[in-house]
Amino acid sequence: MQHINIQTEHVPVLGYGTWQLKGKGCIEGIQKAIDAGYRHIDTAQAYGNEEDVGKGIDKSGIERQEIFLTTKVWMENFSADKFEKSVDESLDKLQTDYVNMLLLHWPPENDRMEEALDQLIEVKKSGKARLIGVSNFTIELLERAVKKTNTVIATNQIEFHPEIDQGPVHEWLRRHNMFLTGYSPLARGGVLKNHVIEKIAKHHDKDAGQVVLRWAIQHDRVAVIPKAASPEHIESNFDIFDFELSNEEMDKISSLAREDGRKVDPEWAPDWDTAKAA
Ligand code: NAP
Repeated sequence: MQHINIQTEHVPVLGYGTWQLKGKGCIEGIQKAIDAGYRHIDTAQAYGNEEDVGKGIDKSGIERQEIFLTTKVWMENFSADKFEKSVDESLDKLQTDYVNMLLLHWPPENDRMEEALDQLIEVKKSGKARLIGVSNFTIELLERAVKKTNTVIATNQIEFHPEIDQGPVHEWLRRHNMFLTGYSPLARGGVLKNHVIEKIAKHHDKDAGQVVLRWAIQHDRVAVIPKAASPEHIESNFDIFDFELSNEEMDKISSLAREDGRKVDPEWAPDWDTAKAA
């Protein structure tokens, strides 16, 4: 497994996303993922599954320190009176006394930004989060966050797959020694029927999902967190470390980016600096 080294942590470039997994399916999914070799797990307060994620990790028998665990604080907990309390609840549910990465799930409203970042920094100081970061931030918002936090922000978790050009944000993160955590890396399955990807997959004797994930992790300082409920997907998505895409193949896949390639665009989203949703 390749890692991104940042501050005190080694972040596995391939993680397991858990949005929409709950109960038995989530517990078993985590166990299967850990069995398959995943050591990076992504959850969030808003997914309502932190307890199941905690149970899955516990049942897997793996040592806590072997896992890079991320959770995200939901927007309604951004105020000073709720933030740390909500993190304590997350830690309880996850059966741990720290997460490796704690994120603000979406950008705070303009006048709440400073307060939320202050809280995030306090949690890092307390040792309850080894690294802190943000999610769904534009370059403009990142500039603000970095100024406020003196660059302790380690990542921006954003949508990242071949149908969306995240080049400018990626470049900005690299320049600031941060990394990009790519969510919905399979475009929720949408990109897998593309004939360009299918042809490249055939050439490498791989499937389309493996090619798309390989494309993502061949970018400098990018980690991805595909979600899979199916045991077959969990296993095949992990089997991407024995082949390499050529520069030409990388470019062909990148050229699939579309102006309307964004999949995740809720009403509270910021004014994006790249693609809009279809
Ligand atoms: P995704 O990982 O791009 O796609 C998941 C979908 O693809 C599921 O329907 C899954 O099916 C299917 N799939 C998985 N592997 C496949 C394969 N090899 N071949 C064909 N289909 C495959 O989408 P996502 O769940 O939106 O994103 C991943 C994770 O990112 C989330 O779970 C969450 O942890 C995180 N996320 C974060 C944010 C944020 O705001 N920070 C937003 C969205 C997502 P099965 O489940 O049936 O296997």
